[in-house]
Amino acid sequence: MTADTIYAPSTAIGGAIALIRVSGPLCPKIAREMLDRDVTKTPRMLRFVRMTDGEKVLDDGMACFLPGKATYTGEDMLELSCHGGSRTTARLLERLSKTGARPAEPGEFTKRAFLNGKMDLSEAEAVMDVVSARAEESLKAALDQLHGRLKERICAIEELLLDSLSSIDAAVDYPDEVEEDVSLALPESLAKARREVDVLIAEGRQGRFLREGVYVALAGRPNVGKSSLLNALIGADRAIVTDLPGTTRDTLDEETSFFGVPVRLVDTAGIRKSGDLVERIGIDRAKAALERADVAVLLLDGTQALSEEDRQLLALTEGKKRLILRSKGDLTQGPDDFGELTISAKTGEGLEELKRRVVALSGAREGAAITNERHVKALENAAAALSHARSATELTLAATDVREALHHLGAITGRDVDGDVIDRIFERFCVGK
Ligand code: GDP
Repeated sequence: MTADTIYAPSTAIGGAIALIRVSGPLCPKIAREMLDRDVTKTPRMLRFVRMTDGEKVLDDGMACFLPGKATYTGEDMLELSCHGGSRTTARLLERLSKTGARPAEPGEFTKRAFLNGKMDLSEAEAVMDVVSARAEESLKAALDQLHGRLKERICAIEELLLDSLSSIDAAVDYPDEVEEDVSLALPESLAKARREVDVLIAEGRQGRFLREGVYVALAGRPNVGKSSLLNALIGADRAIVTDLPGTTRDTLDEETSFFGVPVRLVDTAGIRKSGDLVERIGIDRAKAALERADVAVLLLDGTQALSEEDRQLLALTEGKKRLILRSKGDLTQGPDDFGELTISAKTGEGLEELKRRVVALSGAREGAAITNERHVKALENAAAALSHARSATELTLAATDVREALHHLGAITGRDVDGDVIDRIFERFCVGK
């Protein structure tokens, strides 16, 4: 257990109520000094208290003492709910600074939870994913990870590798029975572990969509209806999603979600019009955006015949995952003679179907247990070590590779990870989490 005691506001200051959390061995002393009731005598009970600095009343609120180890951090904890104004919170934080406790660093509560064995590293990382999830499916994946689903799957692979190691060690001990071809002597459990690692890597590639969003480029000649479609798709979401901190996106991207899957929409014409770029560069950037897109949505004007520019765009998006739309459906009649789907930005016709098809084309919903790039990297390293094991010329070398694979998997759960990696992970957390 860590010796010092930390505190931090866990809610944004300025709301109706602020929650201040304290963790560490000084909690009982702090509770007795600062509160008019000894809440340590009634553990896990939320009680109405008056908070003081010995003489002056600081605030009235609720307090709860949580004795370790059955707490979030595994240590004694004290939770103080006070009035949410910035002055009340500041007074209490000032008071706490005089108790011998110190302000918590970003993510330090969760870091302690990990160091005290309350959760493995993948679960601790999921805490922040839950906080920062912006789309329903991203949240679901983060909660799955928080509930240990990834940990269980990694542990199952580790079991297989430990089995393999004991089989290999046994074979090394009885060299007479070892085949000429080392790969034939390798146990089936090793092949099985490799297959499981590959499945997780594939899911990790899908998980990128939940982390970064499906990148969708809207293409089409001027006036075909791209910006109208963009606005119709973003709709009321716009105000909610665009100003969230910590999101990396191109300035021209608009963020929304289709059926819970995060989506980044870019209007390639917007790129062309942007800034002082000469037209040529703009077109190159539009092409690059199309190139980079997970799904290209190409609009053809439903009120006009196909033009040369339409044909060029059709050729440019050939071979990509793409959806060809016939726009302005409300102005057109009769059977579709081009396009896979008729839409209208004005009436909303076809938009739900468009969202459904974009998600289906991206493949983003085909299971994604892994949304964390660090985990994907560790799995790729483990896969490389296992490939190496399969081509080893001696069993002892194969065993070394299997141990290396175990080391990489251990980086995911935190069983086998350097201190600076841990520090880097928690630095990205918010204070109070
Ligand atoms: P962009 O240049 O491709 O971005 O096209 P805009 O979205 O600016 O649309 C060009 C013109 O077509 C505008 O006058 C829009 O109001 C109109 N427009 C776009 N979509 C529709 C639609 O679905 N129905 C109708 N009736 N007009 C549309």
